Amino acid sequence: MKYKVTEFLKHEGVKYHEAGTKNTSEGWVSIRCPYCTDTSNHMGISLDYGNFTCWKCGEKGGYTKLIMKIKDIPYEQARKVVGYYRDGTSVHEPNTERKVVFEADPNWIPIKEGNEHPALRPFIKRRRFSLELVIQEGCWVASEGTYKHRLIMPITKQGKTVGVQGRDMTGKANVPYLNSPNIFDYIYWLDKWAGRKLVITEGIFDSWRVGKGVSIALFSVNFTPEQLRQIVRLHPSEVLIAFDQDAKRKAVQLKYGLEPYFKTRILNIVGDPADMDRSCLAKLIGDVDEQRIDPAKCSRTAPKTNEADIQRSKEVCEHVRYRV
Ligand SMILES: [Zn+2]
Repeated sequence: MKYKVTEFLKHEGVKYHEAGTKNTSEGWVSIRCPYCTDTSNHMGISLDYGNFTCWKCGEKGGYTKLIMKIKDIPYEQARKVVGYYRDGTSVHEPNTERKVVFEADPNWIPIKEGNEHPALRPFIKRRRFSLELVIQEGCWVASEGTYKHRLIMPITKQGKTVGVQGRDMTGKANVPYLNSPNIFDYIYWLDKWAGRKLVITEGIFDSWRVGKGVSIALFSVNFTPEQLRQIVRLHPSEVLIAFDQDAKRKAVQLKYGLEPYFKTRILNIVGDPADMDRSCLAKLIGDVDEQRIDPAKCSRTAPKTNEADIQRSKEVCEHVRYRV
């Protein structure tokens, strides 16, 4: 149980029914819906997640929304109440006190033009990213040490580097991605998000393709509760999940976790977002401000596409549909 739902309801003097009584299922309590003319107990509240649904009027939402309604208070105040009625034993509190000190390995060389690992240019060319982009994103390369022959991409929080992900550039490493400890406590480009729509991807390269300001990456489809909590705090107008095609099940799980809070959709990605054409992605994402995406950052130095690439791109576009 993450939230002290019953404690909150008791404190507010709201009468509730527990599981096994009045059609209330295991893991839920039910109350008289504060949104409609309910005279019984049509609103179910999940004890695990604090989200609610009224079976009569259809109103649903997260714990914060419920608290706003019951207490008739604004969002910011409700967030504080949420913090109070939360079971501290099972939810990761935001660890704002911890001083995150992350030190770059002395073997790592910041990428500059003319100061590159020999595998870098072919690698980013294959991936259709520009040298300008990896420089701008503060990446390193290494010829020695644990991260040898990897493109090392910094993960930042409030402007400070808190970890890295290193991608093998040679295709010969046993592990393509090497992570510094605890990166799953963080989200790539979270501090760059510009508001409104939010596109959630699996990997850094996917987010590079989708664009800064609109996209974030979770480093894995196995998102953590801590990452989920950070997403919920963003309050996007809409969430679009852009996991790789082979991760549809995980995308559905994430959608399930987020839809009590926001309108959430799964994008029907063909292959990986990182491999898709920018224009296809823009079409898929919809009315996101094109200015913010800045496709030039992703594709300015992209190699000339051949006929096969163009054909594939067209096929991808034809497959592009929103999943309802
Ligand atoms: Zn209702």
